[in-house]
Amino acid sequence: MVLKRILSAALFVCVARGERWESAEPHMGTLVRITIYAEEASPLSAAFARIRDLDQKLSDYKPDSELNQVCRTAHDRPVSVSDDLWRVLSAAQKLAAETGGAFDVTLGPVTHLWRKGRLPDRETLERCGWRNLVLKDHTVFLKQSGMQLDLGGIAKGYAADEALVTLRAHGARQSLIAVSGDIVAGDAPPGKKGWTIGIGETGQQLVLRNAAVSTSGDSEQSFQIAGVPYSHIIDPRTGLGLTGGLTVTVIAHRGLDADPLATAISVLGEARGRVLLSKRFQKLIVRTPQNRRLQN
Ligand code: AMP
Ligand code: MG
Repeated sequence: MVLKRILSAALFVCVARGERWESAEPHMGTLVRITIYAEEASPLSAAFARIRDLDQKLSDYKPDSELNQVCRTAHDRPVSVSDDLWRVLSAAQKLAAETGGAFDVTLGPVTHLWRKGRLPDRETLERCGWRNLVLKDHTVFLKQSGMQLDLGGIAKGYAADEALVTLRAHGARQSLIAVSGDIVAGDAPPGKKGWTIGIGETGQQLVLRNAAVSTSGDSEQSFQIAGVPYSHIIDPRTGLGLTGGLTVTVIAHRGLDADPLATAISVLGEARGRVLLSKRFQKLIVRTPQNRRLQN
């Protein structure tokens, strides 16, 4: 009996201290990097397959994605959607209500113009508005024609969460998934308290396990129009990209929360962001151009 216990403890240590496997693949318009400690590398391919599947559902770049099919048809009648699309849209609309529309996945007509380097006109802005997106009984209805949904501010966090679920189901519990600035950590690496994650250019590091961290508002993806650098994050009140240079990092339990919160707080600003987070078990780090120091 004692020997059996020792043997199973030894086996547990062996499994828990599996080899380190790491791989990166392009998905969702960016590079997805996954690191695990496991007996074999195969959980990695299952996790990447899950992310590929989600991209096919949630992308507004792929013409045949589920999202784009819904955008083409859901203004005639309510359209039933997959569980994944339902979960992401439900979380998005909840946050839109909580932020007075600062987080708004109906900004597609505006974001698509920005991608071509063009400022939105009045007609484009009129095709946006989170209240025009109606979710009921697993269906989506768009109150206006010409609406376009854009899940760029939330889909990556959800994809990282789901990759974690897939890795766990394949026995790889010690894992780190980074979908660009949206990172989800599973159990800590062997012998460590957590995964060490660097935040932007500050050199500051977080040590996290079973948590998500998202950073938004970096200037990497900004557009230049008439010499003005605009962020890819849009203020829904004006239809213009942000210019404040704020960088927002949110730590939450799930990527489905951290990702859209980081985007929303970039729009709301630090003070309103702190009020939003005070009701939750989440942490906020904001950097301004004037003060690149981390503030907790
Ligand atoms: P993120 O990098 O997570 O902050 O997301 C930015 C992306 O979200 C943009 O590239 C757009 O696709 C989309 N987006 C821009 N502005 C907003 C907004 N106010 N609310 C929701 N999504 C947005
Ligand atoms: Mg985001």
